Formats: sequence, C-alpha cells, structure tokens
Amino acid sequence: MSPSPPLIDRYGRAHTYLRVSVTDRCNFRCVYCMPEEGLDWMPRDDILTYEEIARLVRIFVGMGVRRVRLTGGEPLIRRDLERLVAALGAIEGLDDLAMTTNAHRLAGCAETLARSGLTRLNVSLDSLDPETFARLTRGGRLDKVLAGIDAARAAGLTPIKINAVILRGENDHEVPALVEHFSAHAADTVVRFIEYMPFDARWHRSVRARELRTQLSRFYTLDPWGERMGDGPAVYWRVRETGLRIGFISPLSEKFCSTCNRLRMMANGHLRTCLSDDGTPSLRDLLRGGATDDQLAAVIRAMVLGKREGHGCTVEGGVPFEGVMTRVGG
Ligand code: SAM
Ligand code: SF4
Repeated sequence: MSPSPPLIDRYGRAHTYLRVSVTDRCNFRCVYCMPEEGLDWMPRDDILTYEEIARLVRIFVGMGVRRVRLTGGEPLIRRDLERLVAALGAIEGLDDLAMTTNAHRLAGCAETLARSGLTRLNVSLDSLDPETFARLTRGGRLDKVLAGIDAARAAGLTPIKINAVILRGENDHEVPALVEHFSAHAADTVVRFIEYMPFDARWHRSVRARELRTQLSRFYTLDPWGERMGDGPAVYWRVRETGLRIGFISPLSEKFCSTCNRLRMMANGHLRTCLSDDGTPSLRDLLRGGATDDQLAAVIRAMVLGKREGHGCTVEGGVPFEGVMTRVGG
C-alpha cells in the first residue's frame, strides 16, 4: 500500500485509536448494555475472520492509527483470540494493543494473551457485592471476575483499568467501596467511573462525575492528577490517602466530542466513526469483493471525512445513541 497521510476529519481531529469488536455475542446481559433475551446475533458468515481483521488493522495503521483495543460483545468468548492478538501484535507501527473484557473467562487465558502480545487490559466491574453484580450483569459471578483480574496482574497486563458504569439507585452507593478495594493495588490499578449512555431509547439514570467526587470527598481527599494516561477522554484524580488513580468518563455531562480521536469497527466490518452514527458501508463487503488496500484506505478516509461533529445526547435527554453497545463495542 502506498504511504498515506493521517486520518484527519473536517473538524481537524486526527484519528489514532481504533476499537475493534470481535463479536457481538456475550456471556453477560448487563442491564445497561443489552436486553435480557439477547439480540439477533450477527450471522457467523458476516463476522470478519482474524485474517480480515488483521488486514484492515494494517491498513488503519498505515494511515496513522497507533492504538488498537479489542472489544465486543465479550472478546474472550471468541475462539483462539490469542491468534488474533499475535497477528495484530506483529503489525509494525502499532504501539499499543489492549482489550476490554468482562473478565469472566480471563483467569484461564491471561497469561496466554500476554505471551501473544497483548499489552494492557480494561476490565468492566460495576459492583463488589456478588448479588448486585449478578443482577447488573444478569448472571455474572463476581468471584470469577476478581480471579481474572488477579490473573491479569500476575501475567503483567498492567496497569489494569477497572471500568464501572454507575447507575443511580443501582450501584451509585458502591463508589467508595470500589475505591477502597482497589486502593490495595494502587500501584498497578486505575478505577474509572463511566457515565451511562442511553442506547436505543433505554434510559437508566446516570450520575454526574461531580456528584461522585462529592460523595468520595466524604471519605478521601482527591487531588487533580494532570498526567494523561493514553489519550482517552477520562479526567483523572489521585486519592491522596491511598495513591489510587481514579478517572471519570462523562460523555454526556462533560462532552468530549471535540477531541475525539477514535474509530470503531464492528464485528461485521462496519466502521462507526461516531457512537451516534449508524449505517456506514461495510468494509467487509468491499474486502470480500476484491478491493485493494489502497481502495479500502480511500473508502476509510472518505468515511472519516464524513464523521459528524458530535452526538446530540445530554444527561437531561436528547437523541439516544444508535444501536446497542454490545454491537458497537463501547
Ligand atoms: N464485554 C466487554 C466488557 O464489558 O468490558 C467489552 C464490551 S462492553 C460493550 C465495553 C464497555 O462498554 C464496558 O466497559 C461497558 O461497561 C460499557 N458500556 C456498555 N453499555 C454502556 C452504556 N449504555 N453506557 C456506558 N457504558 C456502557
Ligand atoms: Fe456483555 Fe460487556 Fe455488554 Fe456487559 S457490557 S453485556 S459484558 S458486552
């Protein structure tokens, strides 16, 4: 493929980060992410093969993408994921290969993934109470997730970022407990609180970051932590008493669209340039139709140029995001 200029959109945003969903299926049914009965899963033939994903990622890296995150659905339910990790890890120019997982199956594979080239992990964990955890995930086992986190730490997949979606009336009272629990691992763990985003007009009640900080300040002193961790949207603070770094990701109340550097590729090869965007053409169809790398790169560039300025959702309401999170990959 010919050398290619970076992926800059109409608003001057350079895109260096790609989230790759490897499946829309999941072993959980988190209440904020998907319906209890699951979804009409993507037909297996529609899902990109590992070879197809690796080819597309190579093209993205050729256009300036430096960080890739595997996500889903639940990435660890896709068979032989370490094969994909190894293929992506070998791509020259890719600086960071991470994964977001619910960690239910992580204990058995953390070491293999690390050996295959995975560098870092985000683990989603919304509660430390086994019953609340099972209710929010509709069936997940907290002990398995905690064992997965321990295994990741032992395999050197650090720093581990714990992501908790906070819902009013569900787990908002657990914010101090999450901070206390992970303070024991402050050196290699970061806890981030994520504002709920409404998809498909399903509304839970989110809690603003400011309110969570006020709640925490009854127990801890929080110092602003100016250092950036990666180039994501989280705003970081440090718990003075324990050294734990905590982050807040607030897509609605502290919107960060103007600095968005990310693209999302769904498991069926559809590229989403924005979470509020849907219906982009499938890279898979072009790829399977015989498109060259240069042709695919030109289509990707055109899609990025068409990226919208931002989403229209606020804490109070507005337009919910398109589709369901388990398809898009967070
Ligand atoms: N299954 C993996 C997991 O849970 O980590 C990866 C996919 S999941 C869709 C990626 C992230 O999206 C998770 O951290 C999850 O908590 C978050 N998420 C899902 N639905 C969300 C929503 N409606 N609002 C905010 N975050 C959401
Ligand atoms: Fe599955 Fe992750 Fe969605 Fe939960 S948040 S249902 S674990 S994809």
